Amino acid sequence: MKVCVIGAVVVFEKCDEIGGTWVYREETGMDKYGLGVHTSTYQGLQTNLPKELMGFPDFPITIGEKSFITAEQVQNFHHIYADYFDLKKHIKLLHCVLVVEPYAEKQWKITTKDLVNNNNFTTTFDFVFVCNGINHSPHIPIYCGQDKFLGKQFHSHEYRKKDIFRNERVLIVGAGASAVDLINYAKEMAAFIAQSYHGGTINFFTLHNSVKRYPEIDHFTSEEVIFSDGSKENFSMVVYCTGYRYNFPFLSAACGITTKRNELVSPLWQHCINIHRPTMAFIGLCHFVMASQIMDIQNRFVLKFFTGHNSLPSREEMLRSEAYEIARRIKRGIRKIHYLGVSYLDQYQKDLARLADIKPLSPAVIRIFRLMQKIAENDFLNMRNNNFMILNNFKYVWVRNWALKFGVDLWEFGRQFTKMDIIRGRYKEYDVDVVRKDGILLLREMAAEVKNFMDFKMNAVMSFFIYDDFPTAGALSSCDVAPREAQ
Ligand SMILES: Cc1cc2nc3c(=O)[nH]c(=O)nc-3n(C[C@H](O)[C@H](O)[C@H](O)COP(=O)(O)OP(=O)(O)OC[C@H]3O[C@@H](n4cnc5c(N)ncnc54)[C@H](O)[C@@H]3O)c2cc1C
Repeated sequence: MKVCVIGAVVVFEKCDEIGGTWVYREETGMDKYGLGVHTSTYQGLQTNLPKELMGFPDFPITIGEKSFITAEQVQNFHHIYADYFDLKKHIKLLHCVLVVEPYAEKQWKITTKDLVNNNNFTTTFDFVFVCNGINHSPHIPIYCGQDKFLGKQFHSHEYRKKDIFRNERVLIVGAGASAVDLINYAKEMAAFIAQSYHGGTINFFTLHNSVKRYPEIDHFTSEEVIFSDGSKENFSMVVYCTGYRYNFPFLSAACGITTKRNELVSPLWQHCINIHRPTMAFIGLCHFVMASQIMDIQNRFVLKFFTGHNSLPSREEMLRSEAYEIARRIKRGIRKIHYLGVSYLDQYQKDLARLADIKPLSPAVIRIFRLMQKIAENDFLNMRNNNFMILNNFKYVWVRNWALKFGVDLWEFGRQFTKMDIIRGRYKEYDVDVVRKDGILLLREMAAEVKNFMDFKMNAVMSFFIYDDFPTAGALSSCDVAPREAQ
């Protein structure tokens, strides 16, 4: 069968720039068009995943020397990507989607506001991809007396600069990545910092030893916060790092999609296809994933069905599959159905690949993701000192905490080695292309040489690994593990 796709792809983007949450904006609250400011990026934000996991399978991020990069560098990558694939001509900036509703038998009517000219217009489409993000509508828990509290209260979505903490008595609520980051900033400025968390959240908080810890908030008085164990403390500022809720204000009821806070968007097949109207897809709902890698495979999955290459299962089958998935999670105490994490992510992407007959994600990428989870749990504060290099589909190099522990500039070290002829012979061992950027020797090339060098000079002070499998727990808990043989 030959399939011809006639028509145009249009992307409506309400902001004046591509990049979504990675676009830094000083403003918070409402923008000049009366819309909520979308971005949650703050000054100094660095990625919490290595860039090796944040590019797309066919277009990796090569910006920056180290694995953990800044929000600005991620944003630059978006422009490089869009330019390379000539996507900008499809993107209508400053166009806010107001209403999405079914039209005729299988089409969609989209009402959009042209923000600059202040006029609304409608367009019909055959397919709709909902990609409005999951980090823009704050989830703030409700507590008794919260409205009587005289100090400042805001969500991490509104946080921009550390100055705001100056001389304040700050309570950070939550224990995820944003909470840890904001505690770090607050530590430099605040008069006092405490953290409140409830059980079950990721154990990052144990790393902030100088921060006073409290259990969950019970209630507020005008100046104090009273915690669930009866303890209390005086605060002038409370920052909620309590995550986001799903929000699709533009979906009409006829789309057939319901959302439950930050727990569920339903009914969806494989977290993305609208079961009631399977010409609508949601991309990027899943949490605790490598967002761009998963979004890429979700897109490839959906396109197989939207272009008619594959047929969808029956509506009943898709509903059964969703119900099974929800029940499976709830049985394990997981109410947030789209929270994948390490344990579900690999199975999920393999399922997508199998169901649509598409290429799964690279095993090396999955392995680094799994390793990063361990690293983050063990040492979140220093995790950004780890560096990775993907050698091929299966193998990667992990250079652990080099710069931090020994004050050696890994990349300077790399540059030194570029000069050595011996490398040219060495990297032939690897069945991969040599990637050079700005004359900098990348880890791929360094692998053999560093190991060689270490063997006689630095064995005791550095951990260096080439893996084709997940390292053992022992390797993670010790800092002077002998290097393994390159495979
Ligand atoms: C502080 C922070 C740190 C993060 N760090 C990492 C990290 O290190 N690594 C990682 O992989 N992920 C990280 N994430 C997750 C990050 O959100 C995803 O990586 C990724 O940006 C999600 O992309 P997206 O396109 O789905 O959503 P977004 O980036 O949120 O983009 C959605 C786009 O939709 C537009 N839009 C929304 N509503 C409308 C409408 N009605 N009409 C028109 N346009 C609309 C928005 O303006 C926006 O441009 C982080 C998130 C936050 C908040």
